[in-house]
Amino acid sequence: MSRMCHEYLEKVYAYLDGEMSDADCRALQAHLESCPPCMAAYQRDARLKELVRRSCACEPAPTELRERIVTYIHTSVTVVRRQA
Ligand SMILES: [Zn+2]
Repeated sequence: MSRMCHEYLEKVYAYLDGEMSDADCRALQAHLESCPPCMAAYQRDARLKELVRRSCACEPAPTELRERIVTYIHTSVTVVRRQA
């Protein structure tokens, strides 16, 4: 991964939150499409964000669901460390 990747990855959260301008969105999308490691990181973050959003939407989150999310996050972190 290049230094440029780092800058793009820092923008992924802003992108997912819809806080970026159209030009920035296009630049990020173009990079993701040409850079598999960044695309993988983006997809992982997007999935995590969706899980968290869904668990927050229903109050209170069922314990079983919360445990599944925690397990999922731990698994993801382990996978990321192994790849690094
Ligand atoms: Zn990249």
